[in-house]
Amino acid sequence: MGPSSRPTPSKVLALGAHPDDIELGCGGSLARFRDEGSELHSAVFSTCGDETPADSKLRAREYAVAAKSLGVKRPVVYGFPNRELPEHRHKIMREMERLQEDLGPDLVLIPFLEDPHQDHETVARAAIRTFRRRETILQFEILRYGSHTFTPSLFIDITGTLDRKLDALRRYKSQFGRRAYFDEESFRSLARTRGAQSGYSYAEGFVVYKMFW
Ligand SMILES: [Zn+2]
Repeated sequence: MGPSSRPTPSKVLALGAHPDDIELGCGGSLARFRDEGSELHSAVFSTCGDETPADSKLRAREYAVAAKSLGVKRPVVYGFPNRELPEHRHKIMREMERLQEDLGPDLVLIPFLEDPHQDHETVARAAIRTFRRRETILQFEILRYGSHTFTPSLFIDITGTLDRKLDALRRYKSQFGRRAYFDEESFRSLARTRGAQSGYSYAEGFVVYKMFW
């Protein structure tokens, strides 16, 4: 198979629990899909507003700017409480059903189903229960403490879009210096590691949940 045989999704929907999940997990791939003609959509379910006062608006704004920089037209954000997404799984599913109806995505990108963070896992589980049509579902890798069990089975070459991924992540000014893993060296070295594993300069790794040929 040559590069031209790769299918380009027409509508991509990326789902995250928190602002920055999507850019960490699949920002480079989204930029690439966009370049190849896909329409991009994204939604996150919590703004993490509990972390410091007035954080909610700031985090939502950072997410909107970051997602738009990757080519998402209208990034959606819901205000479910941080770390408590499991208690809201039914409402989250209902919002996902609405997105499915309104957008009809053919590719859905979700957090890793075995992610130890309960919010990431809740979004991933709700998504696989919602998107039961012929959508491809890929799980992305959210770099953080405890993300080491992720073993990719699909690699997307982001050599041409790594800069845009890093640029999107730079919009999350509130997160730099606050979390040990949130720095450019870790973003770049993970992309290089996934690239080294797959023969690309830089890549993002995914685990296929379902895919149709
Ligand atoms: Zn997260």
